[in-house]
Amino acid sequence: MSSTITTESPVDQRPPALHNYIGGDWIAARAGETLEDRNPASGELIGQVPLSCDADIDAAVAAARAAFPAWRATSPQARARALFRLRDVLNVHRPELARLVTQDMGKTYDDAFAEVGRGIESVEAATAMPHLLKGENLEGVARGVDVEMVRQPVGVVAAITPFNFPAMIPLWFLPYAIGAGNTFILKPSEQDPLTSQRLMELIAEIDEIPPGVVNLVHGAHGAVNALLDHPGIDAISFVGSAKTARYIHTRAAERGKRVQALGGAKNSMVVMPDAKRDLLINGVLGSAFGAAGQRCLAGSVAVLVGDEAQQDAARDAIVEAASRLRTGDGADPDTDVCPLVSPAARVRLEEEIVRALAEGAELVLDGRRSGGAGGAELAPTIIDRASQDSRVLREELFGPVLALVRVADLESAIAWTNESRYGNSAIIFTSSGEAAREFRFGIQAGMVGVNIGVAAPVAWFPFAGWKASMDGDLHANGRDAVEFYTRKKVVTERWS
Ligand code: NAD
Repeated sequence: MSSTITTESPVDQRPPALHNYIGGDWIAARAGETLEDRNPASGELIGQVPLSCDADIDAAVAAARAAFPAWRATSPQARARALFRLRDVLNVHRPELARLVTQDMGKTYDDAFAEVGRGIESVEAATAMPHLLKGENLEGVARGVDVEMVRQPVGVVAAITPFNFPAMIPLWFLPYAIGAGNTFILKPSEQDPLTSQRLMELIAEIDEIPPGVVNLVHGAHGAVNALLDHPGIDAISFVGSAKTARYIHTRAAERGKRVQALGGAKNSMVVMPDAKRDLLINGVLGSAFGAAGQRCLAGSVAVLVGDEAQQDAARDAIVEAASRLRTGDGADPDTDVCPLVSPAARVRLEEEIVRALAEGAELVLDGRRSGGAGGAELAPTIIDRASQDSRVLREELFGPVLALVRVADLESAIAWTNESRYGNSAIIFTSSGEAAREFRFGIQAGMVGVNIGVAAPVAWFPFAGWKASMDGDLHANGRDAVEFYTRKKVVTERWS
């Protein structure tokens, strides 16, 4: 990362606009308009993002369609070998990709390194595609009649991804999609597209992935709408906020596309009085303040269970530990809490804190100090006794702001959590197997953690939430990814 700190670069020092990667070539977007991409820690201008238009999307779809017949006819083993190559290349470049994530999105280097590792695990899981694609058969359903189910690729698929995991989330989709024989178009977040850009440069060097099989288009809402509306696209994978997920799901489905849209979250962490102190503190702090709370699995509400003295003890321990976390540049190894993705995000979060206080909440840890060189830092903030229907308790704020809720017993904690319109993740900290069992049985969430602050399923399992956290039926990763990226065909035969 450059040490230059500028908010207004002279025109001749501006980085050139990023290019799209289409049909194996790097192509300037036809749209002239660009967005600035800045390092959130320093404010430095590190990229210019073209706002691709309909013509750019047309070109990407044409390239992906042209590549589809030959790629579909490539054997599953050969496609798996291409994924093994991708995995090897990503392993070699893992530190470089992690540095890019830190520079562009802001998270700490260790967190970014782990993120890239999670992405590589998705590639590893997808290398099992020759096994995963196998169908079913049943002999003799009538005299001389046999039935066979085979899986075939859907066609051209697109992924639209969010800013908070710029390496991992594109890799939730790309390996499964192409492993199953589809061709693929990625539209990464316009806020931090540099990791996707580098990913494509690495893919361009892999001979086993022919031109047109994987394509990249930069852009924002216009590019997304062009993908949703394009008749040459068969399926859409989306990850982002709940509002956008609902919009994407509705618009893509109306146009007859297959769609999975993973949305936002408001995750509760239930703190039982018998929780082991070190598991509780590390889990709550990592979940609420890791990546500055910008994870879909971030715990943003701690539900403190017990009598008032027990609730106060849990609150004091969390506040004391959170006050010791260091906020700063994610590239600094001493940083615990990275900047938000942009100064605009910090302004939005401050407004949410002010709103909660105006509604009567109590601020027990105030992180509103200087925003740092890039103006995007916000230190851990903890809010107690907010009103029950306030946004800080019910809506995703996506920042290092933890709200505390107090309830008497586990049953009330489960009921309170289940009132949420979201259902991405829910966590319990306890030493009781009975409490853990009651929680996992009754809680309405797609991903549940017991004594784990960030319960991210490994790549061999499906990843997604319930309720407003997910529009569509099939989750990302695991067998769900195989289901999503293939169509089933049933052949009934008689040869006698
Ligand atoms: P976002 O919804 O703002 O953007 C996601 C993508 O959608 C981007 O590529 C963006 O260009 C596009 N987009 C946004 N608004 C659009 C519109 N009106 N029309 C067309 N396209 C639009 O999300 P974000 O801020 O980048 O990411 C953070 C959100 O993602 C959080 O809500 C977080 O919880 C969620 N998320 C969910 C999961 C999950 O697994 N459920 C994982 C990661 C992030």
